[in-house]
Amino acid sequence: MLDFLFPKECLVCSKTGLWLCKTCQKNLYPTLPNCYMCKKLSNNFKTHSQCVKANSLESVITLWKYNECSKKLIHNFKYKNRFQVGNFLFSLFESKLKKINFENSLLIPLPSHRKKTLERGFNPTEILCNLIAQKVNAQVNTNFVFKKQENISQASLDYCEREKNVENIFEVNTNLIPKIDKYSKIIIMDDIITTGATISEIAKEINEALGKKVVLKGICLFQGSFRKKKQ
Ligand SMILES: [Zn+2]
Ligand SMILES: [Zn+2]
Repeated sequence: MLDFLFPKECLVCSKTGLWLCKTCQKNLYPTLPNCYMCKKLSNNFKTHSQCVKANSLESVITLWKYNECSKKLIHNFKYKNRFQVGNFLFSLFESKLKKINFENSLLIPLPSHRKKTLERGFNPTEILCNLIAQKVNAQVNTNFVFKKQENISQASLDYCEREKNVENIFEVNTNLIPKIDKYSKIIIMDDIITTGATISEIAKEINEALGKKVVLKGICLFQGSFRKKKQ
């Protein structure tokens, strides 16, 4: 019914039918397995031992490269409040979930600030986590890590500024530790990963709270490329 009243059309070329038509889907490029710290190839997206820092995640799986096409999808999902685009994105990666071991794991969507979630009416990564949890054996938690401080968009900043911009903006609800540390894995879900600063900052808070008893992993829809500015 909704489709009849508001027919879906390709967000890139406007052809009716899908949020991204079959032709435009060819412009979504799957990422090759790589280490999220150095972006060089690595089996199963594992962080290279030489790239590991104090709060690195064990691995961060990314699905597609961030480009003009991905931008259209994520922008409509996040900023135009078309949460149906979230369902569509999920349908594009659902088959890839089989390759991921979700045993005894907890999914944590990237926390958005309370104010922002209220404005938007939903947290985009929470929608994706709930869709994943319906298909695999994993739970979702949305109140263990929360965003205590609003920050400006990472996209507008350079490499060094991005680390500063996310510093201490997240907090862990320590009352929930007994409930959370029974999981052997925590998987943080984000939409776009570029420098990895945001996801590492969340990892820092979780590690401080749980004392590294839990393995931390990440799943991100899109991987952006970023060059460090020459000093
Ligand atoms: Zn199209
Ligand atoms: Zn590496």
